[in-house]
This record gives sequence, C-alpha cells and structure tokens, in this order.
Amino acid sequence: MEVKINNIRKEFDRFAALNDVSLNIASGELIALLGPSGSGKTTLLRLIAGLDFPTAGQIFFGEEDASRHSVQERNVGFVFQHYALFRHMTVAQNIGFGLKVRPSASRPPKSEIKKRVSDLLDMVQLSGLENRYPNQLSGGQRQRVALARAMAIEPRILLLDEPFGALDAKVRKELRRWLREFHDRTGHTTVFVTHDQEEALELADRVVVMSQGKIEQVGSADDVYDRPQSPFVFSFIGESSHLPVEVKNGTVLFQGEPIGISEKTDAAGDLFFRPEDVVLTDEKDALFGKVTACRRLAGTRIAEIDIANNGHDPFHVEVEVPLHAPIELGSEARFRPTRWKIFTK
Ligand code: ATP
Repeated sequence: MEVKINNIRKEFDRFAALNDVSLNIASGELIALLGPSGSGKTTLLRLIAGLDFPTAGQIFFGEEDASRHSVQERNVGFVFQHYALFRHMTVAQNIGFGLKVRPSASRPPKSEIKKRVSDLLDMVQLSGLENRYPNQLSGGQRQRVALARAMAIEPRILLLDEPFGALDAKVRKELRRWLREFHDRTGHTTVFVTHDQEEALELADRVVVMSQGKIEQVGSADDVYDRPQSPFVFSFIGESSHLPVEVKNGTVLFQGEPIGISEKTDAAGDLFFRPEDVVLTDEKDALFGKVTACRRLAGTRIAEIDIANNGHDPFHVEVEVPLHAPIELGSEARFRPTRWKIFTK
C-alpha cells in the first residue's frame, strides 16, 4: 500500500512536534524514521497508524484520504518496543487475538483462524511454540510473536516503533537480519522508528532523517552517509569533524591560509569531513594540529587532533590514520581532507 503524507503539522499545546512534514512511501518499501530523541519519529508513526490525528495536512493510503480514519478503518499492524503480549494467553492465542475480536460479520470461522495462526507461526519461524506463554519465550521470540500478531489482521501497512529497542545487542542484530528477510518474503509496506543509525542504514530501503519535527533528508543509506544535505545529517550519521572556512578564488582557506583543497565557488561556511576521508601529508598547504589522543580500532587508528585557535579553545577534529603511520601523542600531524562538503552560512 502506497502512503502519501502531505504537509503534516502536529501540535501539542501549541508546541509543534511535527512541522510541515511530507513523505511518499512506495508500496512494499521498508522505511526507517531515524532521529534523536524528541525529533518527532513516534508522533509521525502514530499519525500514520491513526492513534492520533494531525493538526493540519493529510495522510493518503493509496487514493483514500485516511487523515481522519480510525486505526481499525486504516487496517494497520503495529509492534512496539515493549512487547505488549497478553501474558495470560498462549503464543497461538496472542497471534489470533486480532481476528477473534473482530465484529462477527468480518470474523473468520474458527478453523480458518487456526489455519492462519499456524501459517503465521511458520512465517515467523516459531512453529512448535504455539502453546507456550510469553514468559516462556526469549525476548527475540516475543518480538516475533508480536510481529505475527500484527500481521494476523492482514494489515495494509506495518508500523514498528523501536521494535528491537529492549533487546541485547546480539539478538538485535539477528532480528534485524531476520526482519529484512521477512520483509523481502512478505513484501509489506513497513515503517519503523529507530534512533540507532546502524539499524536504519542496514535495514531500510530509504532512511528518513528527522530533527526537531522536520525531515532533514530522505534517501538510501548511501545517500545519507555519502551525500548528506545538511550539517545536521552530516554530524548525525557517522563520525565527522567541521571547521570554519572561506573559499577565495577557488582556494579553501582556514584561518586565512590555504589547506590544499579547492572549490568551484567562493563562499564562507563550515567544512565537514569524515575521519576516513583524510590523508596525512608533508605539503605546506594543509591542516595541522597537535595529536591529543589515539584510539586503536580493528584495522586502523583514530587520531584526535587539536588545532590552535588564536588563544580561544582549540578546534577538535578526528582523523583516521594507518596503523603504522608515525603519529605520536603530543606530536604535530599534517593532513588534508580528500572528500568534504562546505555548508555555507
Ligand atoms: P524518542 O526517540 O525519544 O521516542 P521521538 O523522536 O519519537 O523521540 P516524539 O515522541 O515524536 O519524539 O516527540 C516529539 C516531541 O513532541 C517531543 O518534544 C515530545 O515531548 C512531544 N510530544 C509527544 N507526544 C506528546 C504529547 N502527547 N503531549 C505533549 N507533547 C508531546
């Protein structure tokens, strides 16, 4: 099911939790809403679900304006971080619940509910556990039951709010792969909320990066990591450093001195670069500073460098250096970005 979100605004007591948010979700897409705490991810998910209504703007499910429709009318499935399974019901009863409580006109006969529950158990790879109670399952298994329960009503769209948030790192990673595979098998339009960028980048077809009630950028993992369109996205996704620069006659100047890189148009702004997009150099035109710390990673090292700032607090940058590069604590390092972006002021 294709979902169109048009110019949504959501206010709580005059505070705009969402401000002019528009997004088109294609049928069968797996979308991640990614952003820091308070950026509006859950609010947007709740509006898509119909758990809450926008102050302004519309939400279309296909051609149908669903903006004022209830959860039931929208026929969405959702799963939250804290598996809200019914403790006194078995796995099978939990999964079948949504079908059982339907008004009698649309309730499938008992035998069909049984068949559907058994198919769903297969789908989430939990066959054999149908008679267990939630407290007899692992956290990962419980989330899969929650997912099967959400799928039981044959939702038009699946909404997941930090579905793996409460699980430990290893189980999270397993479930992440499992969800991607599950999505590819079932082809449901799926929107999930996360504040874990690794999860969003690994799992989603497109990542929606949110900040302060607005969408900053929508794109593939490559788009948001390699081609961030705002200082916020550059700093929020992955590691990065930034320095104030000027571009004069095509030459990039830091503190009035050339640093060995050029740009097409003259401007003043902030130069952003990632630790891995830097080379050490002996050239005169370069950035330089004092190495204040060195962190060893698996196959490489990160040097933290302080760049003097005319008596003010130094600028702090991080650069990746080869394991055996002659970099010592307290020594001077000279370097130059090989990929960067300048955001003009
Ligand atoms: P988190 O990652 O912490 O869950 P989020 O990105 O999901 O954050 P939201 O829960 O959507 O953020 O909240 C966005 C903003 O709206 C926050 O400032 C929050 O305090 C506010 N907000 C959300 N729900 C309500 C509400 N029912 N009443 C008042 N303010 C609310």
